[in-house]
Amino acid sequence: MSTRNGAVAPSEFPPPVDPVGEFVKRELDSEDERIEVGVAIVGGGTAGLATANRLLQLLGDDPETMERLGEVPVAVIEKAKTCGGHNLSGAVMRPAPLQELFPELTREQWRELGFAFGEVDKEAVYMTPTSKRALRIPTPPPFKNHGNEVISVAALARYQQQQAEEGGAYVLTETSATQLLVTDGRVQGVRTGDKGRGKDGEPLGNFEPGTDVTAQATVLAEGCWGHLTGAAIREFDLGDNREPQVWELGVKEVWKVPKPLDRLIHTVGPWPLKLSPKYGQIGGTWIYPMKNAKTGDDLVSIGFVIDLEYADATTSAHDLLQLFKTHPLVRKILEGGERTAWGAKALPGGGYWSMPKLSMPGALLVGDSGGMVDTVALKGVHHCIKSGILAAETIYEQLKRGGSNFSAYEQAVEDSSIGKELYEVRNTRQPFQRGFIQGGPLVNAMIATKGRFPGGRWEWHRNDDRAMFVGDTKDSYPKPDGKYTFDKLSSVYITGNATRDDAPNHIRVQKDVPREIAETWAWMCPAGVYEIPEDAPAHGNVDLIVNYTNCVQCGAITAKGGRLTPPEGGDGPLYTQT
Ligand SMILES: Cc1cc2nc3c(=O)[nH]c(=O)nc-3n(C[C@H](O)[C@H](O)[C@H](O)COP(=O)(O)OP(=O)(O)OC[C@H]3O[C@@H](n4cnc5c(N)ncnc54)[C@H](O)[C@@H]3O)c2cc1C
Ligand code: SF4
Repeated sequence: MSTRNGAVAPSEFPPPVDPVGEFVKRELDSEDERIEVGVAIVGGGTAGLATANRLLQLLGDDPETMERLGEVPVAVIEKAKTCGGHNLSGAVMRPAPLQELFPELTREQWRELGFAFGEVDKEAVYMTPTSKRALRIPTPPPFKNHGNEVISVAALARYQQQQAEEGGAYVLTETSATQLLVTDGRVQGVRTGDKGRGKDGEPLGNFEPGTDVTAQATVLAEGCWGHLTGAAIREFDLGDNREPQVWELGVKEVWKVPKPLDRLIHTVGPWPLKLSPKYGQIGGTWIYPMKNAKTGDDLVSIGFVIDLEYADATTSAHDLLQLFKTHPLVRKILEGGERTAWGAKALPGGGYWSMPKLSMPGALLVGDSGGMVDTVALKGVHHCIKSGILAAETIYEQLKRGGSNFSAYEQAVEDSSIGKELYEVRNTRQPFQRGFIQGGPLVNAMIATKGRFPGGRWEWHRNDDRAMFVGDTKDSYPKPDGKYTFDKLSSVYITGNATRDDAPNHIRVQKDVPREIAETWAWMCPAGVYEIPEDAPAHGNVDLIVNYTNCVQCGAITAKGGRLTPPEGGDGPLYTQT
């Protein structure tokens, strides 16, 4: 293997991990040691909580089935300090599934409850040919947002948690699910992670072992490439005959601004990305107006999303967002304002052909765990909610009749708005893997014909198979001024990240890697986790430093050659406005 610039791909340095061997537990603890629940939901984000909310509505009208599910009919296991703490999205949401979930709530009430910030009535899309110019273009169909609602998924999750608890759910926050319990070819529940271990895994004074949580149905709602979802996909061959999953990474800030923004904005580049296919850079930005109905504050959500297919190792979504904010179009919106939140998160980008099989014996996948995002329109929230509703209805129908076959859920998803919308954009993003210029016209043809031309099933190329080179994208990043532009560490600081300094390392990567790979990880990580020692050789292998306590659990490392595993429950950011 050569380590000359550009010759190595992250997949040549796979993470030291055996997902099925380590993350599937095949023997259950004795009955008196385990906790039995009716339905176990892993992940208290939008999708997992929508499952809990709908299930509890159905069980609320059916005390007999509720009774049959035992003392804890529904348990939600969430690793963040509180639901919402690890959730981040743009987010402009198509409203119908949330209206279906909570039919009694009006959109005015969403805003009063603090998770919604206004209906979109004006929008604009710009091309940014240079760092100074912006050309308004007609709004392409996927960017049409008229009538949609700007929300915060972190705030929505807190509302959903409260609803779930009022309905009778047991929400175990600060708890990671670390193993899938599988016996007799069936998912029986999950094991929760130990708490109170030291750097080398040694039990500390406050050590508490994890517990087997057994359930009649298990729902994996872990978001983008979950830890147990990955193990389940391998264990039950859920990815057979599907395209590989691909990923995007978004970095977001919320700003309090002196003047309300009167429209929703998207920019489609090419600046600040490079047009040459050699760089493999595809991305875009959003600026969404937010009116806080409780405080009257005018806010904006601003973010940069990059496809993780890029080849220049110095591509950094965080720094590209900082650079984007120096454009006059943006500067005039933020002028005199103040940054109030920052965060980062990956999202699955493969769409329809990359969705795994959604059910297995004893368990289901919902939301991003099932890859239900339309990255052409950057929309997944409404699919998460709809999939939670459909999963809850399938589980309820089965458990009511004493059944345990949840496979009807797959067809229900296919026949719903999720299947229909994702099918229309099934081939739309793949041509971009050929570069912006070559892929652009094909993407437009796919959008115009709703995926019929050029037809067939378009393949995806794995992000970690792309050879990396150390390029010059980094040369354009602005020096942080602490007012409009910020470095990674001060950004992580405002997330309220609370990982113990002596926590065990939850990031699995090889540490002795060629410079191209080390640079890829160092630039990509929005939280500054990977550090190349100053005295490392310019070429050849470097001895990577992993500052894992900075990690904001965005998940991007899993796309580019490493693996994020859940840290101890309660660690990581505590997002509130994202
Ligand atoms: C930058 C960005 C911008 C976006 N913009 C938009 C937009 O404008 N509009 C739109 O509709 N969609 C948008 N999306 C997509 C949308 O945000 C997602 O589809 C959606 O939020 C995913 O919800 P989820 O519940 O499936 O996953 P998540 O929100 O990721 O929730 C998963 C939860 O599971 C928890 N968890 C995971 N693993 C474990 C475990 N093992 N044990 C315990 N807990 C666990 C996590 O802590 C988390 O709380 C965007 C996404 C990103 C990243
Ligand atoms: S170390 Fe954490 S924050 Fe950094 S890329 Fe990996 S998952 Fe994201």
